[in-house]
Amino acid sequence: MDIFNQVESQVRSYCRSFPTVFTTAKNARLTNRDGQSYIDFLAGAGTLNYGHNNDLLKKPLIDYIASDGVTHGLDMYTDAKERFLQAFKDIIMEPRGMNYKVQFTGPTGTNAVEVALKIARKAKGRAGIVSFTNGYHGCTLGAQAVTGNKGQRGGAGVSLGDVTRIPYDNYGHEGDDFMGLKLLDQMLTDPGSGVEVPAAVIVETVQGEGGLNAARMDWLQELESLCRKHDMLFIIDDIQAGCGRTGTFFSFEPAGVKPDIVTLSKSLSGYGLPFAVTLMRPELDQWEPGEHNGTFRGNNLAFVTARVALEEYWKDNAFEGEIAKRADILEKRFTDIIKRFGESEMHLKGRGMMRGIAVADGDIAGAICKEAFAKGLIVETSGPWDEVVKCLCPLTIPLDDLNKGIDILESAFAKVLPEARAKAS
Ligand code: PMP
Repeated sequence: MDIFNQVESQVRSYCRSFPTVFTTAKNARLTNRDGQSYIDFLAGAGTLNYGHNNDLLKKPLIDYIASDGVTHGLDMYTDAKERFLQAFKDIIMEPRGMNYKVQFTGPTGTNAVEVALKIARKAKGRAGIVSFTNGYHGCTLGAQAVTGNKGQRGGAGVSLGDVTRIPYDNYGHEGDDFMGLKLLDQMLTDPGSGVEVPAAVIVETVQGEGGLNAARMDWLQELESLCRKHDMLFIIDDIQAGCGRTGTFFSFEPAGVKPDIVTLSKSLSGYGLPFAVTLMRPELDQWEPGEHNGTFRGNNLAFVTARVALEEYWKDNAFEGEIAKRADILEKRFTDIIKRFGESEMHLKGRGMMRGIAVADGDIAGAICKEAFAKGLIVETSGPWDEVVKCLCPLTIPLDDLNKGIDILESAFAKVLPEARAKAS
């Protein structure tokens, strides 16, 4: 593995937690060079909702490549793009009563967030954005500015302005359910607050990197009302929580809210191919042609796999049932782990199949993940102190692998927690 140390930048991160060389992958399993198989509870940080190398998507992708289908076409019309847009309209938007323009942005999530912020600012003619404590939206400068994490922000090297940060649901205000939103309402109403009406609010319904904080549905509804009251655009960043991760295609469906702008990426291509979109209400689509550009907007290979993923998994609600089954297992078994190892200092986090356990601190969570890896499970931490053991396994994980993975996690808790407690006392 010397070449990685010699040549690859220090910035690398996940490989430090999982120091082995992987060669192949299938559904919820990754195999290393020595043939050791690992259960994958990280799944490309939420990019592989349909598992690694899903056969339903692989075959059409190979056929498309074999037929010399266009791979790169800037943003020119291709039949792969046409078929994706048609499927997205027919399978996702129309049944949900949605009417959005779809903008193909640069290939990663942060590109979709940049577009969301830029179009909101342009449409409203205002610079300010409201974002939330522990929100994570990406590492280009606009997205970084609305991100909370100190370590990430520190890497920017310039000031990250035009953002007002407000407490997220349940942040530091137990006993006053809507404190953050009341504060925002008051600040926007009071001409002496020093906070000008912003262009938009950007929020995750479940904060993926920020520790799996799940906003309540009535909190999201209240946030939407505030946006309407103060003429701010309502942006939901569904890059991690979307594409089925919380149980429905969009994470905000159970709340019944209607965001003005939505960002999607990660699992949208279905196959781990880079792909991102920003959805916007048609009247917000105020771009001049080419005003926001980019060489890699609309990855044709991703158009193919994304379209097939929609056709295979979202035409009816059978897949939602499969997700719910797995989400129930995660909730039940994580609750049991918490009961077994100490309810006073551990908490269940997240929603759907975006679940985790918050432990006392980041050292303990890190030790649990390290122990789990030694036993054949890939699982990572999240949260401001890395204190949440976070499970993002493929939504297609076989029940046997799901239970085996949780067994490994439980045995890691059983090994690490008594040692950590003995050390502390
Ligand atoms: N928004 C959210 C909610 C995310 O979780 C992430 C990635 N973790 C991003 C934006 C940025 O996506 P990318 O890393 O693909 O740029």
